[in-house]
Amino acid sequence: MNYNKDNIFAKILREEIPCKKVYENDYVLAFHDINPKKKLHVLVIPKGEYVDLNDFTNTASEKEIVEFSKAISHVANLIGAKNKGYRALTNTGSDGGQEVPHLHFHIFAGEKVGKMVS
Ligand code: 5GP
Repeated sequence: MNYNKDNIFAKILREEIPCKKVYENDYVLAFHDINPKKKLHVLVIPKGEYVDLNDFTNTASEKEIVEFSKAISHVANLIGAKNKGYRALTNTGSDGGQEVPHLHFHIFAGEKVGKMVS
């Protein structure tokens, strides 16, 4: 799938629409989900144009992959989930339930997140 520059997270990265920012560096942006499914629900996205995890692992640089991986646990720690834990997941493609075609990891925390798949 080609990257669609009109997707909502691309607009957030271009600051065309606002977000509640949690963390940012040269490689990633993390912000609160607009429709939180748990007490804490934060999205971590790479700044590069990657549709999903397949696209990212196939085409991103080693540096981008390392920085993105590190950012997920860093953001989880920033929102206070270090001690009690959290769930990080990414949806890929239509069977995976992906709605926004820009790679993102969800971080759910702040309460028991429940069964892995319902
Ligand atoms: P997906 O289903 O693609 O894995 O998750 C997309 C997520 O993006 C959903 O949890 C949805 O609530 C969130 N989302 C969609 N539009 C916006 C938006 O404009 N701002 C923010 N912060 N989150 C959004």
